[in-house]
Order: sequence, then structure tokens, then C-alpha cells
Amino acid sequence: MALIVQKYGGTSVGNIERIKNVAKRVARSYDEGNAVVVVLSAMSGETNKLVALTQEVSEFPIGREYDVIISTGEQVTVGLLALILKEMGYKAKSFLGSQVPIVTDSQFGSARIESIEDERLRAVLNDGVIAVVAGFQGVDPEGNITTLGRGGSDTTAVALAAALKADLCEIYTDVEGVYTTDPNFCPNARKLEKVSYDEMLEMASLGAKVLQTRSVEFAKKYEIPVMVRSSFNDAPGTLVCKEDKEMEKVVVSGVTYNKGEAKISVLRVPDRPGIAAKLFRPLTEEGINVDMIVQNISHDAHTDLTFTVSNADYKRALKLIKESTAAVIGAEEVVGDPNISKVSIIGAGMRSHAGVASKMFEVLANEGINIQMISTSEIKVSCVIDVKYTELAVRVLHDAFGLGTNEIVEEKD
Ligand code: ASP
Ligand code: MG
Repeated sequence: MALIVQKYGGTSVGNIERIKNVAKRVARSYDEGNAVVVVLSAMSGETNKLVALTQEVSEFPIGREYDVIISTGEQVTVGLLALILKEMGYKAKSFLGSQVPIVTDSQFGSARIESIEDERLRAVLNDGVIAVVAGFQGVDPEGNITTLGRGGSDTTAVALAAALKADLCEIYTDVEGVYTTDPNFCPNARKLEKVSYDEMLEMASLGAKVLQTRSVEFAKKYEIPVMVRSSFNDAPGTLVCKEDKEMEKVVVSGVTYNKGEAKISVLRVPDRPGIAAKLFRPLTEEGINVDMIVQNISHDAHTDLTFTVSNADYKRALKLIKESTAAVIGAEEVVGDPNISKVSIIGAGMRSHAGVASKMFEVLANEGINIQMISTSEIKVSCVIDVKYTELAVRVLHDAFGLGTNEIVEEKD
């Protein structure tokens, strides 16, 4: 008997009809002889509504009560699914994060899972019960309700799969899998059969919205195979798994974009040890994540420093960096630009193939798209460009690296 964790996202449980459809899928898997743990999101749009309610009554709502409020959407869907399964004659039981329990730290709004006690779930599974667990939520050591960050149900599912040593974690969503790029931009985007943990990690953190990044970190660490597929049909999905030889042959497997960042430049920073550390310290203290950082070669002992933060943090970051610049170097020359986007190409094959970055730059140059910042890792190249060229950049890169067709771009050696 296999143990399967199935996670259904917001659109898949968007109304009663759809939850009944989920119940049928769960029942089918159970009838095939599997032990099934189901993890659910809130109905689509519900968490946004709850967040908006908190913002109506508070300027900075994030904290203990915020999580009490925004975790409630999942309580409704797990209750409904368990009830429907029971009506169908199955044994089912709903669990909140605190009832499992899924223990997290106390970082409200973006808590991290610290441990999952599996005895209670194992006991009900042994009794032939389908366990229906609320995604996105946990409980801290003091008993406070916490949430795992937007999109956190994916992480609940993979973490449960790891804790229960599940054979498979299925992520059911409203698309059929992981695509070479956003099909809204490129109608010829192709569904990937397989993608490695590392590639998926880059894709998720660089803008592909299909999985929460943290969930992929869990999957990689515990080597949980994750199948991303649609809850609306039986098409085969995309398997996120360990890298194999075939994957290494593919130079570029996806193009992503992220319009959710903004750029801040500090001009004429004295080129001395310790200055950057002092400038950035207030951002760290306020929990603001800095993504890309570029420092130019210094002229006359001064340099320009440019970095990106998420749009949500932009205004706060700009204010803080202006203050710290004024305090540290006296004059304050800070400029911000929220109208940027980050376009990235990702592929495990980049490790063993040269010339990928320069091809990317050429393709963008041919379209007259100016590159404002560049960052690379072993398996990705990212460029910051003007937001208005995002769609064009994605399309030309997708074509240039042959992603829309079925042919694999292999190095001829
Ligand atoms: N309901 C939460 C959200 O909308 C968690 C999730 O759907 O994964 O972010
Ligand atoms: Mg999601």
C-alpha cells in the first residue's frame, strides 16, 4: 500500500461543485488501495479577502491576530471536504495545523516549519481514515496560530510527505504542470515531463508561480518526488525529481519573469571597507530581503551600488536606505525605480555548456532591450530590464532557446 499526499489549490476547491470533484479524486486514489492525506488551500480569492479585512482595520496588520484571521479560509475547505467524503461513505477527518500538530517558529505571516508530529495522522491512516489537513497553517511552541507565507499550502503538503515518508506528493492545480514559460505570453510553451529540484527551485524563486519555493526546498532535502498536475483532467503532469543524465543535456529548460521587484541605486558611495554593511544593516533589521546586488568598479574612490527588493518592501526600503545613506555618508543620493522586471533563463545543462549567457544578451540586444543588471548562478542567468519589455523578452528568449518545439537543444560535440 502506498502513502500519497495530495494537495489541491484554491481554484480546485473554489466552490462546492469543485470540492465534490476533489472528493471523487481522493476517493478514487483511496479505492486503488492507497493511504491518502489531503492538504487543501482556501477557496480561491478567500485569503486575499481576509488579508483585505485586516488592512481595513490596521495599517501594519502582520502579527498574531493577522494569522488568526488569514488562516481561516483553510478551516472551511478541510471541513467541507471531510464532510463530503463522509456523505460518500468514506471515513474522513479534518485537521487544522495545530491539531496535527505542525509546529513552526513564531514569525507570523511567514513562519517556518520546525517539526511535524506524525503519530496522530499515522493512527487515523491505520484506521483507514482519509486525513484532510489544512494547508498554510501551523502552531508555534506557545500555541499561537501561524501561517507559512502566501502559497504556503504547497509547503504543508511536501513537509507532510517528508514527515510521513510518503511515496509521492501530488500537487493538484489549475494548470497541467510546469511549463517552459508562461503560456499566456507564449502559446507554444511546452509542458515539461520532468524537472530537477534545482531547476524547479530556481524557477519558483525567479517567478514561476506554480510551487512555493520553500516547498521545493523541502522536496529536495528529503528527496520527495513531487507531481504537479491538473485537478480538472487526467493529463500526465510534471515530475519534480532528482537530476538525471537526460536533464543535463537540456541547456535551457525554462524562461521565467518576475514583475514583483523594484530597483534602488545609491550613488557615489565611498569605496571603503564596511560602508556597504552599514548601509544595508537597517534593511536586515527590518526583515527586508535584498535580491540582486550590483556594485560598479570605483572611479575616484567612489562607486554606485544598485540592488533590488520586492515591490511590497520598496517604499520602506527606499526610506530606510535614504536614512542610512544620509547617516553613513552624509549626502544622500538615492534613486529608486519600481518599473523593472527580472527575466531569467534556467537549465541544469548550463553547468556543462558555455555561451548561454552571451546568447541571452545577444537575443535581448537584437530587440533593443537594455539590460540594467545581471546575476547568474550555476544553472540560471537573470537580467533586470524595463518592465514594459517583459513579454517581448520572454517570447524572444523562449524562441531563441528552442523551447517551444519538441526538439531538445543539445550541444554538438
Ligand atoms: N490560501 C493561502 C494563500 O492564498 C495558501 C495557499 O493557497 O497555498 O496564499
Ligand atoms: Mg499555489
